Formats: sequence, structure tokens, C-alpha cells
Amino acid sequence: MHNRKNRIQQWMHQVAERMKPWVIVGGGMVGATAALTLADQGYSVVLLEPKPETEFDPTSAYDLRISAITADNIAQLNALGVWESVVNQRAQRFDELAVREQQGPWVEFAGRGGEPLGFMVENKLLQRLLQERCKKHPLVHVKIDGFARIDTNETDACAVVTSAGDEIPYSGLLGADGAQSSVRKALGLGTAGSSYRERCLLVNVETEKALPPRTWQIFADQEVHALLPLSTHHACLIVYANHDQVLVHSANEQTLMPWMQTRFAHHIGNFKFQGFGSFPLRHQQVLTPWSHRFQGGVIGDAAHAVHPLAGQGVNLGFRDVQGIASALKHCRDEDAVAAVAGALATRQRENMLMGCGLDAIAKGFRSQNPLIQAARRGLFHGLSMQPQLRAWIGRIAGGRLLSR
Ligand SMILES: Cc1cc2nc3c(=O)[nH]c(=O)nc-3n(C[C@H](O)[C@H](O)[C@H](O)COP(=O)(O)OP(=O)(O)OC[C@H]3O[C@@H](n4cnc5c(N)ncnc54)[C@H](O)[C@@H]3O)c2cc1C
Repeated sequence: MHNRKNRIQQWMHQVAERMKPWVIVGGGMVGATAALTLADQGYSVVLLEPKPETEFDPTSAYDLRISAITADNIAQLNALGVWESVVNQRAQRFDELAVREQQGPWVEFAGRGGEPLGFMVENKLLQRLLQERCKKHPLVHVKIDGFARIDTNETDACAVVTSAGDEIPYSGLLGADGAQSSVRKALGLGTAGSSYRERCLLVNVETEKALPPRTWQIFADQEVHALLPLSTHHACLIVYANHDQVLVHSANEQTLMPWMQTRFAHHIGNFKFQGFGSFPLRHQQVLTPWSHRFQGGVIGDAAHAVHPLAGQGVNLGFRDVQGIASALKHCRDEDAVAAVAGALATRQRENMLMGCGLDAIAKGFRSQNPLIQAARRGLFHGLSMQPQLRAWIGRIAGGRLLSR
């Protein structure tokens, strides 16, 4: 009789645990994608976002925060039902990616059979469409509120306490609250990282000449210059350079215009500024992505902030969500938390590899060491002589070899 009562209590406890939602903190591109992905697999989700995107006007000036979204992640966004609206509102396809040293020839990568390598999308558009989709999903509750802390009770059950003071008991917690993640700190997850002592300067321009659907990057001695096409006559020009120099030259439009013209006018002709801004660059990786004590982990920039020179930041976050989705597909409800913890451990290894690779590229291209410079020239020469290798890299850049 006593045993039966125990078993019933245990069963009721398990049912109660399963009824608790997942809490996702941060409704940015990664958090909102994670919310929809979990909900599509039948889990109830509370998405906490204090500053949701409210409007997007496709005739407004372009936003400075732009991401190159690759093919594997486009497939994921398509499955969640948001990609068509992205393309209908404002996105620029790019078919070619080109890199070169300042004096060298272009090394070009293209998709196979005319496939695009990806699309340039404004972060705020993608965020807005994902958040709208979350609001309409019957299993997602979007709460306009912030994360404050985690509380545990005497049975070690966990709850998120929001900035407004509400308590939300959860079965699992995912922090997608960006590089300065408060969830990561509350979970006690340490990070390793370093500053590049560089800033990324972004300048949106309108050009006189038409631009091809091509994104490019030039490795100059101490700087990297890049162009992201936004439309036939709009682009985002990027300079990665010394922290102080960027601050001095971008103090106002009068000082910035000649600085940008010497770097870009001979590639794209005359242009007018539409907006500019800069931010410091840092490489940061979480040391362990999951806390067993608090049943929670981190994804997206909360787990890994990488050098943006290869446009991988949000794509890595989307791949965290893909990893979670595949782990959940084949597990029972009661194993979901363990499955997500396992998926994030696997992602951690892949993200670490990518972060270190980008770190080596960022530092290697700045190096004045003659041996590294010779290796760099050798690499460019080798690539320019190997069309098959370029095609393969083009497929990786477009996320096609990474599709699950
Ligand atoms: C110049 C530049 C160019 C880039 N280009 C590319 C590119 O081409 N391709 C690419 O893949 N990536 C690119 N990236 C990186 C990309 O923008 C980031 O990786 C991406 O925005 C990370 O998304 P996220 O959802 O993890 O975090 P975020 O976008 O930082 O979103 C975090 C969300 O959490 C919310 N939040 C914060 N604190 C709290 C809290 N306490 N409670 C609740 N919510 C909270 C915020 O309001 C926000 O909505 C670029 C980055 C930069 C800076």
C-alpha cells in the first residue's frame, strides 16, 4: 500500500515536471528561433523579451545590424514559416563571395549551379518576424519582461524570477540573451575570451553605380575592408581596424567620408552616407554550456561571440538550435532536458573550433611576421589555382555542407 502511494506520488511529480514550460530568455534571432523550434516539437515555452521589435518599414533606411544568412539556416527558417515573409519584405541575395590581399588577385567562391550563397537580412526584420510568429504559436507565451534571477526551492525545483517579480517554474532554461548574458552568470557558467583591440565600423551607403550580388573582403596590412550588398544601389561598408583609429575617424561624417572614400570609392564609385556606427570586437566562448544544477544552458551569442569577418555569428546560434531540434526529435519527454544538455555539449566543441579558426584568421591577417605573410600569400595563390577547392569552400560558406 505504502509502495503504491509512493509510485503514485512519483508519477504525479513527473507529470507536474512535464507540464512546466521551457523558459527561453531573449527573443533575438536565436532565442525566438529556439522558442518556435521547441514549440513545434510540442513543448510549451515562455519567451522573455523586454524589448520586442514592433515595426518594420521596408521603405525605411537600412539598419546597421545586418547578417548574412546561409542556406542551412534558410531551410530552418523556412520550416518555421518565416523565410517567405523575410524575402517579401527586404533581403538581398548574394551569389558570390570574393576575398583578396590588397595587392593580390581576387579569389572567388560561388554556389553550385546558380544557387545563392546566402541572403543579407537586417537583424531587426528577422527578429520581428520570428517574434510575431511566436506570438501566434499556441504553445509559446511571449512575455515582455526581463530575466532577473533563478530561484530554487527545498526540492531543488527551479524557477526564473523576472524583472517585474513574476516567478516562472520551468523544466528547462535556455539563455539566448546575447554576449553580456545575465542567464550565463546566474547559471555560473564561466567564459574564456579576449579583446581584439579592434573596432568594427559599419557604414550604410547609397551608391551611384549599380552593385552586383557579390560580397567581398580585402585584407589590407592592418585593416580588413568588406562590402555587404543590400540592394542594387545600397551596401553596408565595413572596416575592421585599430580601436582608437576607428574612434578618431568616425567622430563625425566630415572626418569619416574622406577616410571611407580612399578605401572604397575605387571599388564602387561615388556613394552617400545613410548611417554609421562602430563597436569593439571580442572573442568569447562559454567554458561549459550547461548547468545540471539549474537545468539550464546558453545558446547564440550568450555562448559564443566570434569575429564577424566570416559572417558566422548568428549562423552558429541557429546551428545550436538545429542541434537541439535533432536531439529532441528522437527522445522521450522525460529525457528532453538531458538531450538538450548533450546537444549543447556537442555544439560547444563545434563552436570552439569555429571560434578558434576565425581567431587565427583575424590574427593571421594582421600579422607582420614575414613567415605568416608568406604563408598567407601561399594560401591565396593556392586557392586561386584550385577551382574544386574553391567550389567546396563556397558550399561551406553557403552552409550547404553543414546542412543536417
Ligand atoms: C557588424 C556585425 C556583423 C555581423 N554579421 C553577421 C553575419 O553576416 N552573419 C552572422 O551570422 N552573424 C553576424 N553577426 C553576428 C550576429 O549579429 C549575432 O551573432 C547575433 O545577433 C546573435 O543573436 P542572439 O539572438 O544570440 O543575440 P542578440 O541578437 O544579442 O539578442 C539577445 C536578445 O536578448 C534580449 N535580452 C538581453 N538581456 C535580457 C534579459 N535580461 N532578459 C530578457 N531578454 C534579454 C535582448 O533584448 C535581445 O533581444 C554580426 C555581428 C555584427 C556586430
